[in-house]
Amino acid sequence: MKTIGVLTSGGDAPGMNAAIRAVVRTAIYNKVRVLGIKRGFNGLIRGEIEEMDVASVGEIIHRGGTILHTARCEEFKTEEGLKKAYNIIKIFGIDGIIVIGGDGSFRGARDLSKFGVPVVGIPGTIDNDIACTDFTIGFDTAVNTVLDALNKIRDTVTSHERVNIIEVMGRNAGDIALYAGLSGGAEDIIVPEIPFNVDNVCRILIEGKNRGKVSYILIVAEGTKNSFQLAKEVEEKTGLEVRVTVLGHIQRGGSPTAADRILASRMGAHAVKLLLSGKSNRVVAIRGSQIVDYDIDEALSMKKEFDHEMYELAKILSI
Ligand code: ATP
Repeated sequence: MKTIGVLTSGGDAPGMNAAIRAVVRTAIYNKVRVLGIKRGFNGLIRGEIEEMDVASVGEIIHRGGTILHTARCEEFKTEEGLKKAYNIIKIFGIDGIIVIGGDGSFRGARDLSKFGVPVVGIPGTIDNDIACTDFTIGFDTAVNTVLDALNKIRDTVTSHERVNIIEVMGRNAGDIALYAGLSGGAEDIIVPEIPFNVDNVCRILIEGKNRGKVSYILIVAEGTKNSFQLAKEVEEKTGLEVRVTVLGHIQRGGSPTAADRILASRMGAHAVKLLLSGKSNRVVAIRGSQIVDYDIDEALSMKKEFDHEMYELAKILSI
């Protein structure tokens, strides 16, 4: 393995830069050349590639986003797109590719591996929706961003004696809602993994009100229920004043936390070591405190487990 390509794909996540830095520096330390591929699979198809040196990844460990930029690429899902990418890989003499992204990006990487290109995936997404790993790069930062917002919103809902529904990201995964909700003491957490009923939410709020409670925060994972619709129903059924805060893209940005920087550094270095030891078609993961790796097909076939125990704990602690 003489030349490794690295790209970021799908939604950006804080810590992607720390992962790029780890890939570049581990490779160069091992006397391997690194080519940075811009704009995910789009840039690969178009040959937007440049060599990275030690200095090119200086001053980025603390920055959110990705210096390589990221994009979605429909063309890559076609045989023609994959062939174009394969030709570029040959032209640039790339011996293996590291893909930092979510499971969509790993599907793309797996398709590329069918052409005989060694690939390694690094889970980079704020959603923490990749089944083979306990944590993805960016998740901890996103949770802390939500927590910071929740703390601020708590001040104002307490002053005004209101209910605030905070809508967080996560698509089909409730982990951001769960972790931010537990750490922020939210009164209820609404996630796609657990069926919910508006009347139960209203009961929690009315019981709280009867005990003299003055502020309530409900965390809703996007995709579970329309937050504005929920606010209307809760207001009608409880008589409480309800406001909605949709946090949106602020959850994707920001300087990565120490936990994300460390995770990204360890995963980036591990990905390079896999390629150097001749292993390919793997996804890097963390299990407990250990960095491990899985076959890419196995990783993609796993089903993400929701932490029901933690969810129950959040319920108990918010009574
Ligand atoms: P995130 O979850 O953070 O958005 P992701 O990697 O899951 O990240 P996607 O938009 O699903 O984001 O995928 C990124 C890119 O990976 C797509 O634009 C496409 O190029 C490629 N890709 C996604 N799904 C597939 C698939 N089923 N087959 C081949 N390539 C795919």
